Amino acid sequence: MSLLSVVVPCYNEEENVSLFYEELTKNDSFFKEKGIDVEILYIDDGSMDGTVAEVKNLRESDGRVHLVSFSRNFGKEAAIYAGLEHSRGDYVVLMDSDLQDPPSLLPEMFSCLEQGYDSVATRRVSRKGEPPIRSFFARMFYKLMKKISKTEIMDGARDYRLMTRQVVNAILSMQEYNRFTKGIFGWVGFRTKWLEYENVERARGETKWNFWKLFLYSLDGITAFSTVPLMIAAVAGVLFCLLAFVMIIFIIVRKLIFGDPVSGWPSLVCIMLFLSGIQFFCTGILGQYLAKTYMEVKKRPIYLVKEKL
Ligand code: UDP
Ligand code: MG
Repeated sequence: MSLLSVVVPCYNEEENVSLFYEELTKNDSFFKEKGIDVEILYIDDGSMDGTVAEVKNLRESDGRVHLVSFSRNFGKEAAIYAGLEHSRGDYVVLMDSDLQDPPSLLPEMFSCLEQGYDSVATRRVSRKGEPPIRSFFARMFYKLMKKISKTEIMDGARDYRLMTRQVVNAILSMQEYNRFTKGIFGWVGFRTKWLEYENVERARGETKWNFWKLFLYSLDGITAFSTVPLMIAAVAGVLFCLLAFVMIIFIIVRKLIFGDPVSGWPSLVCIMLFLSGIQFFCTGILGQYLAKTYMEVKKRPIYLVKEKL
C-alpha cells in the first residue's frame, strides 16, 4: 500500500470543511482499487470561526482526518509549508478547501504520475466569475514575471498539485521565510505535467484575497524570484548621465553662438521633480529587498502550532 497525503489549508472555512470531505471521499473506491491509503491534513490557519470544531467532528467518524492548528493566521503559504512538513505520504496533494480545486480530477492526476511524471500541476484556462480588472492585473503580473524571472511561473497556475515524496522533500528543503509557493514549485524543477480546467467558483464563504492583498502578494513574488528591479536604478543612472552630457554640450554651443540669457526655471523645477521622483522610486525598490532580507535574517519560524491531532 502507498500513502497519499491530502493537505488542505483552511482559514475561516467552517462551511466548507465537511463539503470538501464529502467530495474528496467520492474518490475512495478509486483509491482502494489502486491500493492507496489516504490521510487528510486540515491545516487551520488561525481560523476565528468553527473550522477547528468541524475538523474535530470529522475526525471522530474518520481516523484518516488530521488537524494542525496555528496559533494565529500565518497565511496560506505558511499553511502549505506546515502541511507538507506534517505529511507522511509517498504522494502529497495540495488542495483548497473551497472546492475550487475539484477532487474529481485526482484519478486523472494519478494516471499522469504513472506515466512517469514527478508532479502534476493544474492551471485554470478561464477566469470566469472573477472581476475583469483583477484578471487584467493577474495577466500583467504573469507577463512581467516571464520577462524578469528565470523561474517559470505559469499563468493561471493553481496551488492544486500532486507530487511525489521526492518533490515534497525538495520544496521542504527551501527554508525561506518569504514563501512564494508558485515560484518555489517552478524553482525545484522535476518533470511536471500541466492539466487544464475551467475555473470553478468557491463553494461557500468568501475569498480571503482582496485586490490590495493580491497586489502586495505580487510584489512578494517579484522580490522573491527576480532581482531585475534592482537594476532599474543603475540603468536609469546611466541613461540620465548620457542625457545630461548631451544637454551640456547643447547649452555650451548655444551660449557660444547666441549668447543665451538665463531663463527657464519652471523647466528646471520639472526636471528636478522628475529626477527626485525616480530616485525615491529606486530607493523604495532597494527598501523592498532590504525588508525581505531583514525578515529572512531574523530566521523566525514560518508558523507556530497551537494544537495537533
Ligand atoms: N487560506 C489560508 N490562509 C489564509 C487565506 C486563505 O489557509 O490566510 C486558504 C483558504 O481557506 C482556502 C485557500 O487558502 O482553502 C484559498 O483561499 P481563497 O479561496 O480565499 O483564495 P482564492 O481561491 O480566492 O484565490
Ligand atoms: Mg478559493
